Amino acid sequence: MKNYWDLIMQKQTASSSAVSSARSVDVLIIGAGLSGIGAACHLSRECPNKTFAIIERRDAIGGTWDLFRYPGIRSDSDMYTFGYNFKPWTEPRVLADGPSIKRYVTETAREFNVEPHIRFGRKVVSADWSSIKKHWKVEVLNEATSKSESYTASFLIGATGYYNYDAGYRPKFEGESKFKGQFVHPQHWPENLDYAGKRVVIIGSGATAITLVPSMTDKAAHVTMLQRSPTYILSVPAVDPVAAQLQKYLPSKIAYRLNRTRNIGIQRFLYEASRRHPKLVRRLILSRIKAQVGDKVDMRHFTPTYNPWDQRLCVVPSGDLFKALRKGKASIETDIIDTFTADGIKLRSGEKIKADIVVTATGLEVQMLGGVVVHVDGEPVMPKEHLTYKGTMLQDVPNAAIIIGYTNASWTLRADLASEYICRVINYMDRKGYQVVVPRDHEDSASDDTVMGALASGYIQRAADRLPRQGKRAPWRVVQNYLQEIPLMRRSPINDGVLEFDGRPSRQNVINRLIRPMRLATGL
Ligand SMILES: Cc1cc2nc3c(=O)[nH]c(=O)nc-3n(C[C@H](O)[C@H](O)[C@H](O)COP(=O)(O)OP(=O)(O)OC[C@H]3O[C@@H](n4cnc5c(N)ncnc54)[C@H](O)[C@@H]3O)c2cc1C
Repeated sequence: MKNYWDLIMQKQTASSSAVSSARSVDVLIIGAGLSGIGAACHLSRECPNKTFAIIERRDAIGGTWDLFRYPGIRSDSDMYTFGYNFKPWTEPRVLADGPSIKRYVTETAREFNVEPHIRFGRKVVSADWSSIKKHWKVEVLNEATSKSESYTASFLIGATGYYNYDAGYRPKFEGESKFKGQFVHPQHWPENLDYAGKRVVIIGSGATAITLVPSMTDKAAHVTMLQRSPTYILSVPAVDPVAAQLQKYLPSKIAYRLNRTRNIGIQRFLYEASRRHPKLVRRLILSRIKAQVGDKVDMRHFTPTYNPWDQRLCVVPSGDLFKALRKGKASIETDIIDTFTADGIKLRSGEKIKADIVVTATGLEVQMLGGVVVHVDGEPVMPKEHLTYKGTMLQDVPNAAIIIGYTNASWTLRADLASEYICRVINYMDRKGYQVVVPRDHEDSASDDTVMGALASGYIQRAADRLPRQGKRAPWRVVQNYLQEIPLMRRSPINDGVLEFDGRPSRQNVINRLIRPMRLATGL
């Protein structure tokens, strides 16, 4: 006998050919990266009666893991928590390379039959909500043919990630036009870049620079990582022996669940310990690095001025970066660029580094909703003027959600929860016969924090004026804590007095408004 999911899959397969050419769907997802494919899988499992389409600008699934092609590209989250909660990661490697992650996402899309719902090579340009028609009208540009297409959808999900795909962040350097060598940005890695025997300088200190350094020492004459300031780096085993044993002896779903639970616990423990006992965690991280790099490397290059987890912590598999430094194939400079010269870089300290290739691992350009211009009844929506409700919907924006992952844990943990929550809202509306949902703030909940929270990373600081805000308290506060968010997203009542359905404030909403002056007066 077929089980429930088989029947759902059968239904989706039967309807997929009709859906794949439809221009009017129940749910329109923008983006076929990890989040968009995850959202589609959740929809097909949890809202089997809904039609949906995914509009994807690129010609392939994978988003980040299709775009970035630099040597060594890999996750710095463990795959047991970076994987979906419904699709086991079965490989023994803890951190996976880009092509494997892309394969995993593509395989998931195939397994849950969401592939036929994707329209590739199409960029969403604008989305307009009409309160009269109770739907979104979405304008899409086929970038190959320059032809426009229109779609309509009752519900819109933005799964566009958080950065601009067209260009990375690239500061201008003094004298850079004098440099006779080659500049490369990791976001646009030249397919056949030949760095054999070349002197490579990598500018940056984030996850990308830290990945590139050991990966390029295979062929380069020497690799120098040039950083303005150091980052905390933690070495993790490339293959976790406990996880590997569980995978060997247990069915894949059970092993995955156990490895995932364990790693969620470890991630949270490390984060909490860093916030509560920063000095202790700092000492531990630095002592582990010291043991791996030996006496040859100056610890000043690994000693940040901030506390662990004020910025995202970087990890390296089996200390690959430290090995490259120990062997002398790579080195680190912590200094400021004074000027570029014809054959390299002159530093403020007066030191000169010779270079044939300079990799500007200087980061991402944050962009919300993939640059889509959004209007609600003709009024433009500026993300920075809106609070995020449960980190998933935008204040005063009807029938829409965005998927943003954690900044202090694996992105997918939150992407899964957000998709599950969206499915709950859609099912609730179906049960009650509602057509429109919109989060309303009647309590002046806004704070100065952006949706990315307290993380002080450069790219988030630079984008503070473009990111949606978060509020002082739930449900407007973004909880960067998976365990706390589980009940909030999976079990809390949908009709909580903040969500307004079909333009009618709920009873709770009216009560909240009535008691607000009292709360303000009493400070409670
Ligand atoms: C190099 C790198 C390494 C990372 N490593 C980790 C890690 O180890 N752990 C972690 O938690 N996070 C990591 N991240 C963050 C990472 O981006 C997320 O974890 C995750 O891949 C995001 O998935 P997403 O689907 O939300 O967004 P993306 O992967 O960015 O996908 C967005 C998709 O939307 C499409 N799109 C955008 N705008 C439009 C539009 N207007 N019209 C149509 N389509 C559009 C894009 O083409 C893309 O396919 C990393 C990021 C980078 C850049």
